[in-house]
Amino acid sequence: MIAALLLDRDGTIVRDEPYNGDPALVEPLPGAKAALDELRGLGLGVALISNQSGIARGLITRAQVEAVNARVVEMLGPFDVLLYCAHGPEDDCACRKPKPGMLLEAMRTMGVDPHECVMVGDKNDDIEAAQAAGVRALKVDPKVGLAHAMPALRCFYGDPGNGDDAE
Ligand SMILES: [Mg+2]
Ligand SMILES: [Zn+2]
Repeated sequence: MIAALLLDRDGTIVRDEPYNGDPALVEPLPGAKAALDELRGLGLGVALISNQSGIARGLITRAQVEAVNARVVEMLGPFDVLLYCAHGPEDDCACRKPKPGMLLEAMRTMGVDPHECVMVGDKNDDIEAAQAAGVRALKVDPKVGLAHAMPALRCFYGDPGNGDDAE
């Protein structure tokens, strides 16, 4: 059984628009809203965890990233934890994926253990961050996103009425 999902943002729940600072360009991937509603409906925690190095690169501001995140919430519903890393690859911070910092913080905030979580993302950095945090991971096609992971996620959270694995 799983207790929480750790989700990447760009290419996982919204179309990947590089260094997006414009809320008007936020476009949910097909089926993302239905998938999130299904997960929330099961009582699972949902954290959103995003690298936003455009801030360190001087391409976008924190206020713009936060405006984009607010639009994501408006279109796709609330998240239990919403984190982003503003650093660049050269900053050697503990939060930028593939480092596990944001995943560890999200799990602490939600009060869940790594073995109760699944990370879903579209890049190797997402998968490596999950491995570093001790969390299972599913990699999705950025054109499809979270909907791509739902069949596998349904296996993880299972059917409580199914006695097949009893013993
Ligand atoms: Mg991504
Ligand atoms: Zn960082």
